Amino acid sequence: MKPYDFPDAKGHFGPYGGVFAAETLMQAIEELRLSYDKYRNDPDFLAEFEYELKHFVGRPTPVYHARRWSEELGGAQIWFKREDLNHTGAHKINNSLGQALLARRMGKKRIIAETGAGQHGVATATVCARYGMECVVYMGIDDVKRQSPNVFRMKLLGATVVPVESGSRTLKDALNEAMRDWVTNVDNTFYIIGTVAGPHPYPMMVRNFHSVIGKESIEQMPLYAGRQPDYVLACVGGGSNAMGIFHPYIPYENTKLVGVEAAGEGISTGKHSASLMHGRVGVLHGNRTYVLQDENGQVRETHSVSAGLDYPGVGPEHAWLKDSGRATYESVTDDEALASFHHCCQIEGIIPALETSHALAYAAKLAPTLPKDKVILVNLSGRGDKDINTVAQRAGIVL
Ligand SMILES: *Cc1c(COP(=O)(O)O)cnc(C)c1O
Repeated sequence: MKPYDFPDAKGHFGPYGGVFAAETLMQAIEELRLSYDKYRNDPDFLAEFEYELKHFVGRPTPVYHARRWSEELGGAQIWFKREDLNHTGAHKINNSLGQALLARRMGKKRIIAETGAGQHGVATATVCARYGMECVVYMGIDDVKRQSPNVFRMKLLGATVVPVESGSRTLKDALNEAMRDWVTNVDNTFYIIGTVAGPHPYPMMVRNFHSVIGKESIEQMPLYAGRQPDYVLACVGGGSNAMGIFHPYIPYENTKLVGVEAAGEGISTGKHSASLMHGRVGVLHGNRTYVLQDENGQVRETHSVSAGLDYPGVGPEHAWLKDSGRATYESVTDDEALASFHHCCQIEGIIPALETSHALAYAAKLAPTLPKDKVILVNLSGRGDKDINTVAQRAGIVL
């Protein structure tokens, strides 16, 4: 099997992925697997997905030459794939939309989701409003307090936000609560997971919905940049925007794939979220992958200035791409990401998400080491309007 063909029928990417779930969930997961199998190549399903991506989301997103930044760095040409221009401001809606269309085909009228920073919750609440579906979003109570504008957005869109008070009161606990809901209400409920994690078929399905990013890039780059990129860069939290742009490029052997994780306050401080570079193999949220854990196998607290990268696991396909050598992984600190955030605003007129700023910071390190005729394509996963409070706070400014 070529890396491109993964996963196998049971959801394995080499030794990673699979289905690790309670017996009570197996029926729901199996129903999902069979339904996705039925529709993934169905022409009507694909046509509707494409129509909605075009008319509701605003695709295709452009590729853009970051000319001034490239000139300043004096090396390779940096291009952006503009996922920030999607409706709701990031790549996440590609996936929420795809899963909502599948839920409709399955006759499920109630949608549940978990969210940390609230971005996946907003994307899911948006598609639920679009299709008139009930939407319940689980969110750790600490996150509810930290992310109040996104909580209000979800409510405006008609969703119910359920604050989760158990455990560390963040994303991990929201996920457990969503699983509990799914078991209880499996007859009428579809669980929209927000990244390339979870039990099979989620990592494959979410990747497939996002692979529109890479497919568009493959058509656009020869047209506008005159060639395919030498490097494709993307930030990695759970890994969905990265898989979306990486996957169609896997057969393009001259294109190097680089994922950028959050080094937080510095790897040596232990306050980071670099699961691939510094985690160990374990099982988290239904699949085998790299997990940040302590000596006793307890999942560690993670840290990143960007809430979307603050996850102790990573999608199993990234674990496989890392081991097979087809992709490599780097990390960038909070401070480096913030510096690139400000620089991108001022030199390109684009306010990037803090997550995205990690990939930008690595691009700015890489470009000067390469000749001027080389091309780096960065997946600009989202816009940074959501992050202005965090950025202001770090600068000691009260908005
Ligand atoms: C959620 C988010 C991410 C991180 O999630 P992935 O699944 O790793 O893509 C990155 N960028 C933006 C803008 C996000 O909203």
